Amino acid sequence: MQTDLIHSKTLLTRSSGYLKSVCSHSLNPYSGCGYGLSSCGEGCYVRFNHWLTRGREWGKFVDVKVNAGELYIQSVEKEKNWTHKRSIPFTIFMSSSTDPWQPAEKKYRVTRAILKSMTTCPPDALILQTHSASILDDLTILLELSRLCSLRVHISIEGDRNRLPGLPPPPCSVEQRISALEQLSTQGLKTVACLSPLYPLENPQHFFERLKNSGASAVIIDHFIEGDGTAEGSRTFKTRLPSAMSKIQTDSIHLSYRDHIATIARAYLPVGISAQGFAGRYSH
Ligand code: SF4
Repeated sequence: MQTDLIHSKTLLTRSSGYLKSVCSHSLNPYSGCGYGLSSCGEGCYVRFNHWLTRGREWGKFVDVKVNAGELYIQSVEKEKNWTHKRSIPFTIFMSSSTDPWQPAEKKYRVTRAILKSMTTCPPDALILQTHSASILDDLTILLELSRLCSLRVHISIEGDRNRLPGLPPPPCSVEQRISALEQLSTQGLKTVACLSPLYPLENPQHFFERLKNSGASAVIIDHFIEGDGTAEGSRTFKTRLPSAMSKIQTDSIHLSYRDHIATIARAYLPVGISAQGFAGRYSH
């Protein structure tokens, strides 16, 4: 892993494209992701962002934005005013192209520094998304932030299997992630299970029952088709993910599988499909 400590010039990125309906700004404490060689890294759409990777192999580099906590304080008022002039809420999505609780966070605590800065100048709404149970390290700050802004925590759990054939293990086991949902929910935080991209489920009814029992308030279901930034999933079809999925269940690589699973999920929890779900819009 190539780790570089950098002084970033910008931190809050005004949303465009897919994210525009989800948030006003995205915030990435790191560039690159230490989970990139895990199963989720295989179909991770960020690996196709050549502007970000600059030729570096996905999962083998991370740029640590060591000044991010200060940068937030320096830029937050300007960005908050920008949203309020447009009569839209100042909503931050953290993170769109990295995992805030990836392994580097244990050492550098950039995400923690940003969250602490947010307690002095909070956004209107904050959406946190992670694959890692390490988010529990910051439970105290999350509880404080939940009193200062509208906070929603998305825990990414693509399915009920820990391994797909031919792919590496996940960053964190399914059990650990469901347990994280439970611990956060028990503390009163609003949590959402994020099946993105949806993997073939072994026992959908049992899985959604577990998610409901964890205290999650909703599920987001996002297929790699439409979810990877291309209408046909052409980016993901260049990776090993579709063949790993179809080895388990052939129809899981079709968009109709998402709709089939969403119908089952609705018997347990409110469901948000793709961008609608990331934006917090669910249906029963
Ligand atoms: S944790 Fe998120 S950003 Fe990191 S490799 Fe996995 S999907 Fe991509």
